[in-house]
Amino acid sequence: MLEVNNINAFYGNVQVLWDVSLKVNQGEIVALIGANGAGKSTLVHAITGLMPIASGSIKFLDKQIDRLPPHIITELGISHIPEGRKLFTEMSVHENLELGAYSKPAWKKKQDTLERVYKIFPRLKEREKQLARTLSGGEQQMVAMGRGLMSIPKLCIIDEPSNGLAPLVVMEVFKIVQALRDQGITILLIEQNVRHTLEISDRAYVLENGRVVMEGDCATCLASEHIKKAYLGL
Ligand code: ATP
Repeated sequence: MLEVNNINAFYGNVQVLWDVSLKVNQGEIVALIGANGAGKSTLVHAITGLMPIASGSIKFLDKQIDRLPPHIITELGISHIPEGRKLFTEMSVHENLELGAYSKPAWKKKQDTLERVYKIFPRLKEREKQLARTLSGGEQQMVAMGRGLMSIPKLCIIDEPSNGLAPLVVMEVFKIVQALRDQGITILLIEQNVRHTLEISDRAYVLENGRVVMEGDCATCLASEHIKKAYLGL
């Protein structure tokens, strides 16, 4: 579904992605893990059209997308649920969700999609008129995920959804990620909560200093001495 081939990216003269390649197949949860500053956000921004790449290519459903603007990439079916939720805090839950359906095709189906989102997140239905800033961290993450679904994506890139949440809420968020996959949405999950991420994902890529240093199925990654030492504190 998604094919990133040998991409290189720079901020000014500083190279931050080095020959990065990654694949996501339909129906998978693929984990992208790495420490702060490894280049995860830069890679996501390259996929979503926010960061130009210097070389390499990015294909989505066999179409080259690396020169396309972000709104077209969204319309093609990639939704980015950003790190830190990035909600409009003075707007209601309902208004935040509607904003996710800004593209013409999504806007036409907005009512049906909204009902689907409220089915996945019944708590958001109960709070639809509440301002986003009055919600708990977990509920705000639900709004961010619901807003991402409003564009009717085929691939959801979920960036650090567990960030800043209490352990029980983190478990709930990971269950929701699995539920989305079970509903047919393919997921690229960027996380620093490595253990849980590897437990729910099919395959993983490990990014260090802008390079993919390991890739494989999650059981192999969990058993790797490097992962145990560097990411699981064992
Ligand atoms: P985090 O988990 O902290 O978000 P990350 O893995 O997403 O980290 P990036 O944000 O992609 O990492 O950063 C990769 C490198 O690029 C880091 O060295 C960072 O300092 C640098 N960087 C990120 N954004 C910019 C920018 N706008 N200008 C210059 N350098 C940047």
